[in-house]
Amino acid sequence: MNAVSFKKNGAIAIITLHLPPANLLTLALRQELLVCIEKAEANNNIRAILLTAEGTVFCAGADINEIETGDAYIEPILPTILNRIDASKKLCVAAVDGLALGGGMELALACDYRVGGPRARFGLPEIKLGLLPGGGGTQRLPRIAGIQASIELITSGKPIGVRKALDYHIIDQAVPADTPFLEAAIGYTQSLLDNHAPVFDYSAIPLEKNKQVNDALQTFRESLSPDAPDYQATMRCIDAIEAAYDLPFFEGLQKEAELFIEAMQTPYAKAMWHLFFAERNAGKLPDMDITRKPDKAFKVKVFKVAVIGAGNMGCGIAINFSNIGLHTMLLDMNEENVARGLQRIEQQYTRAVSKGKLSSKELNDRMRLLSGATDYQSIAAADLVIEAVFEDMAVKKVVFTELDKVCKAGAILATNTSTLDVNEIAAFTQRPADVVGLHFFNPADRMRLLEVVRGRETSDRVLVSVLNLARNIKKLPVVVNVCFGFVGNRMLEPYAREAFRMILEGASPQQVDRVLTDFGFAMGVVSMYDLVGLDVAYQARAPLTHKDKDPSYHKLMDELYWLERYGKKNGVGLYRYDDQGNKHNDPEVIEIAARLAKELDIQQREISDREIEERCLFTLINEGAQILHEKIAYRASDCDLIWVNGFGFPNWRGGPMHYANQLGLQKIYHALLKYREQLGDYGKLWFNPSPLLKELAEQQQRFI
Ligand code: NAD
Repeated sequence: MNAVSFKKNGAIAIITLHLPPANLLTLALRQELLVCIEKAEANNNIRAILLTAEGTVFCAGADINEIETGDAYIEPILPTILNRIDASKKLCVAAVDGLALGGGMELALACDYRVGGPRARFGLPEIKLGLLPGGGGTQRLPRIAGIQASIELITSGKPIGVRKALDYHIIDQAVPADTPFLEAAIGYTQSLLDNHAPVFDYSAIPLEKNKQVNDALQTFRESLSPDAPDYQATMRCIDAIEAAYDLPFFEGLQKEAELFIEAMQTPYAKAMWHLFFAERNAGKLPDMDITRKPDKAFKVKVFKVAVIGAGNMGCGIAINFSNIGLHTMLLDMNEENVARGLQRIEQQYTRAVSKGKLSSKELNDRMRLLSGATDYQSIAAADLVIEAVFEDMAVKKVVFTELDKVCKAGAILATNTSTLDVNEIAAFTQRPADVVGLHFFNPADRMRLLEVVRGRETSDRVLVSVLNLARNIKKLPVVVNVCFGFVGNRMLEPYAREAFRMILEGASPQQVDRVLTDFGFAMGVVSMYDLVGLDVAYQARAPLTHKDKDPSYHKLMDELYWLERYGKKNGVGLYRYDDQGNKHNDPEVIEIAARLAKELDIQQREISDREIEERCLFTLINEGAQILHEKIAYRASDCDLIWVNGFGFPNWRGGPMHYANQLGLQKIYHALLKYREQLGDYGKLWFNPSPLLKELAEQQQRFI
């Protein structure tokens, strides 16, 4: 046997899962587990089964790859095993000293008793994928832990630790940290046998639907907002829990299964699944086996980090590394800038202390790891250098020429540029294979997304190393190739262009924002620009030459910049802000837009909400198609991850490319052609479907 082992210890059969790294409930594991259970049952000398696991994960649940391969549906399926354990006449004890998630927790719940070690954590995270526990969790948990705990665990998806598990009666006994766990679990099982502890058959335990249960269900249902994207998914969880009280056990299981299948079909669950798989695939490159375990010499070991530019991004980037205990040096042009940067980081840590998120000791430890410098010699020993100076190729050239001179051989030289050509930057050095783009998002210490920009010559060694490091600092790295703005900012370009053009055509800033937030965006694009700063956006547009062919191109934004309306930072932008930072509509912007429209000979008109949504989103999707066509992104789901995690695209829509697939690419293609006609010369300039979109639409296919 490979995944499960069987050992006899007196009257106790010890069945151990050992399928690293997560003891997933694969077909092979299920088959072996069933064999072991049958073996224990057939042996009259065995009175108890102790189910445990090797490693820090008890069992992380189903292997979702098996849903695609179909193995998940081959007997023994999980419910068969759980029902078998449940019905066993022998005493079954789960000994959990690690993560028990989803089907893993349900496995423990099917046992008669549970003993937890210090590392035990129990969770039913299915709701995060729009689903509900499908292995009897919704029927057994209420019988074990009652209504409140069931509602909490099943609808939040959040795991709980050993103390709470004890409070909720999910475990019957906790083993302290200083006690050998397995020995204690065996001792506990033996004591249960000695005391003739009852064996439970959960199907024989009826649940009473008393007032407390009814009140809990009602209160929870009433607390949900019907407009929330996960409303239906959460209601399905509650319906399943309620079935535990309304129906006999096996009918409750049937109801759970029906609700599970129903949930699987919903667009919400499909979107959440899509993003789940997207995350697993991100960073896997078709032309390189990035998942292989590189030999030790291959991967760059990063102990010391240097960040060039102690500004907004540089400080945020540095925090990521001091947080994981790496020595991090901040280099800027002069002492004053360095000191300001270090102070800014300290303030941030101090805020975390005041919120109770960090201890004073941690603050001091982390600050000790940070140091400042103004001369490049000081960073010569760094293993990783990340440049975050002004977005200006001339400045980048100065920095990379200097880095090439001083940095030790093999160091990774990264740029945080948002738009500039990483190949050109690499060419400032004699070692372009060591150069890579690491595009952090603002605020860099908090935003999870990291675009890893693969230059023409970036080596596999550097890519493997930065992907590894990115995960260490808890980022979501998505590898992209070089073009202006990479994937995220390049897709932003048409989306924002249409939004601001429509304000010239007669829409108001608030109408545009409302349509986008109604769609589900965390923030409308107009507010987003005010937050980023119209000055920053102006600088970012500097290399673009679109104005040559389209005089209306960001005309309003240029005008506001010239009027020193920089956005929220100075109180006026596309909106006006009061002293508390609250946003107000500003009729002046409407007047400016009307004046510019006149100058540009644009006829102002009423713009429908639908037109705003279609022009913003369909051009965004079309740019995504073009990015795939040019092979800037490796897969459509990478574009989705970037837009969901970097630009507030609603996750429950699965990202722009998934949304497009759901809508049907023909619809988008034809809408683009419609606007191409309707909008005259402007339409002919900007509404040109990407060849990939055209091809897929004609063949009735989807983005992949
Ligand atoms: P910033 O103006 O806040 O900081 C830039 C820092 O670089 C300043 O402290 C400046 O003194 C320093 N600097 C300039 N030239 C230098 C040199 N030759 N040597 C050493 N230090 C020098 O800018 P920022 O917003 O932090 O942006 C930095 C980089 O990050 C840019 O490339 C930008 O495109 C990119 N970026 C910015 C954002 C954002 O939202 N601000 C997001 C992603 C990426």
